[in-house]
Amino acid sequence: PHKGEETLRSPICCVMGHVDTGKTKLLDYIRGTHVQEGEARGITQQIGATFFPVENIRDRTKELKADARLNVPGLLVIDTPGHESFTNLRSHGSGLCDIAVLVVNIMHGLEPQTIESLNLLRKRNTEFIVALNKIDRLYGWKTQPNAPIRKALKQQSKDVQNEFDRRLIEVITQLKEQGLNTELYYKNKDMGETFNIVPTSAISGEGIPDLLLLLIQWSQKTMVEKLTFRNVVQCTVLEVKVTKGHGTTIDVVLVNGVLHEGDQIVFCSLQGPIVTTIRALLTPHPMQELRVKGTYLHHKAIKAAQGIKITGQGLEHAIAGTSLYVVRRDDDLEEVKESAMQDMKSVTSRIDRSGEGVGTPVCVLQKDFTDIGRIASIRFNEKAVDHAKKGQKVTIKIVGTNPEEQQKMHGRHFDNDDQLVSHITRRSIDVLKAYYRDDLSMEDWKLVLKLKTLF
Ligand code: GDP
Ligand code: MG
Repeated sequence: PHKGEETLRSPICCVMGHVDTGKTKLLDYIRGTHVQEGEARGITQQIGATFFPVENIRDRTKELKADARLNVPGLLVIDTPGHESFTNLRSHGSGLCDIAVLVVNIMHGLEPQTIESLNLLRKRNTEFIVALNKIDRLYGWKTQPNAPIRKALKQQSKDVQNEFDRRLIEVITQLKEQGLNTELYYKNKDMGETFNIVPTSAISGEGIPDLLLLLIQWSQKTMVEKLTFRNVVQCTVLEVKVTKGHGTTIDVVLVNGVLHEGDQIVFCSLQGPIVTTIRALLTPHPMQELRVKGTYLHHKAIKAAQGIKITGQGLEHAIAGTSLYVVRRDDDLEEVKESAMQDMKSVTSRIDRSGEGVGTPVCVLQKDFTDIGRIASIRFNEKAVDHAKKGQKVTIKIVGTNPEEQQKMHGRHFDNDDQLVSHITRRSIDVLKAYYRDDLSMEDWKLVLKLKTLF
């Protein structure tokens, strides 16, 4: 094996962009699956994770470059929701990734969440590649399934090539207006300063080999340090959910290190640190997505990076977005518990004061779509914070609670809205208390909270 092959972990790649640009469809095409068609109204409401083994990528890219050196075990791809109310989830997915694909529809150019995603990526200094998708929609496009992009473009008529150039330049100009230099990847002489564009079709697969190869090559070229395998577990909870036949499970992304069946784990919860044991480590079959129901492979141990479903007791208390800690032989359990509870801070820091307008004192609790009824974000406007501190009433809106999904989301049934509200309120008070610490007592909070629900 080449140097590095043993020591690098798989890069984690996140797919971002405006709704309907083809993020899920791109993944479907690469996997050969049909997740997109199974989604409610075609909108991704959770984060999914898929592992692509390197042998598969080698096979997919050999027409483009047969002797490419691929030093990583594979690529772990995370698909994120594109709907505008999922800012928090998007930020959550992008926080895990080493590299991202920013999908732009060639027919539409830049759209609001393209710009939002772009800003998130820049804020975090994340490397990314622009996939200029839906090129098959260019009028008169001749499809060539899975062809490298240059080969596919050469086969097109002059008209199609001109139309492609015109739209490409338009997108490059729009990105430039956002302060970003971009260029077609095979014309890019200044990689690093100038971001790469790969034209793709998620329907017929043109440009997909280019995208896969560039993702791997760019990752292993620019982030050797970050991708070096370390035997220290770094693991984030993506979703807490009931999985048929397994009870409440957690879907996690193992970013680094190794997890074993039987490992003692610790994570934070609103009730304090939870200590439990990994009963089983499950993954979907390679190239299948973690959130698609199906049969799972059992593992004795799993090495990073991977998307894993963990079964065990007490997992229903886990909170999406927080870390999972493993207690090793020499570790002090109390210290690990303390580290885990540090993560409560990251949960409460998701409280975002920039929320609604400044008119009425409003606090919006946004339900976490990755989780059974926990709170993903709390947005106060300035006035609400003032009122809350003075002990005056604040209206709380609970967003995104769909009665049909109660069972799925909360793991139980509610006879009426009041029950549901009080269930969520109890959790909210805990979160609010965690945020304000000693500022207000539980009784104070009950006075402060006046609930208004939005279903
Ligand atoms: P997402 O919201 O970004 O995940 O977008 P989807 O993957 O759900 O795709 C939105 C719609 O665009 C679906 O109807 C797809 O079939 C269609 N679509 C996605 N990619 C392409 C493409 O490359 N070419 C064409 N013609 N349609 C596409
Ligand atoms: Mg999608």
